[in-house]
Amino acid sequence: MLRRIDVLTIFPDLVEAFLAESLVGSARSSGLLELAAHDLRQWTRDRHRSVDDTPYGGGPGMVMKPEPLVEGIEALAGPKGPDRRARVILMSPQGRVLDHARVKELAGVGHLVLVCGRYEGVDARVVDLAVDEEISIGDYVLCGGEVPAMAVIESVVRWVPGVLGNPDSAGRDSFAGPAASGGGFLEGPQYTRPPVFRGHGVPEVLLSGDHAAIERFRAERAREITRQRRPDLLGNGEHESHSRSGED
Ligand code: SAH
Repeated sequence: MLRRIDVLTIFPDLVEAFLAESLVGSARSSGLLELAAHDLRQWTRDRHRSVDDTPYGGGPGMVMKPEPLVEGIEALAGPKGPDRRARVILMSPQGRVLDHARVKELAGVGHLVLVCGRYEGVDARVVDLAVDEEISIGDYVLCGGEVPAMAVIESVVRWVPGVLGNPDSAGRDSFAGPAASGGGFLEGPQYTRPPVFRGHGVPEVLLSGDHAAIERFRAERAREITRQRRPDLLGNGEHESHSRSGED
């Protein structure tokens, strides 16, 4: 079970602000999880504390130097191999795209070290020498790995027992539902007061107090919205299992 996450970044204040707020902040202050942001520059050795250099072969921008990253990672996680104390994940557009199944798997790892790239990315030797896996948060490019690392943290901490006020709630959310494909359903529409807002009412059944009927209604709407918007999540037949194994 997850007990610690370290983030290696050149913007520790940005990450630290995030770690102090909301559900993540309460998980930390209640002692459910240890969370820390580490300034990559503490592992630089030159006077300018530089973390980047020009790319071999030419081209625009800068590339993150291997020395501070590898030293920082090894300080937090130990050397790559059997003596490693944590799973080291580089945030990267070249990584496997994060999904529900991967989030749940990460929630079972005791200690994660999330490494944030910047500029044009990191020297490839960092991956070879010090990274255990790469994770992408989607097919688009951000300016740095901090927001992806925060996305990993927010999605993973929801599965740490005690973090959510209601332990059932993560299991009812989108993607966690009952579908055998591993994808689950999308959650259907939700309502709160007032009962009529600008002429728009609320489905009667939700006001009925009939819990079995409410459950049935929610399950139907979840299936319906999933079929409309994400039929790929429902396909637990041949097509889906083939395309899934093809991605691995
Ligand atoms: N030149 C790289 C992009 C570098 S963006 C490329 O074309 O693939 C700078 C950093 O932002 C990356 O090193 C990575 O840490 C982070 N990053 C950008 N997009 C990301 C994504 N979709 N998922 C995870 N990390 C991402």
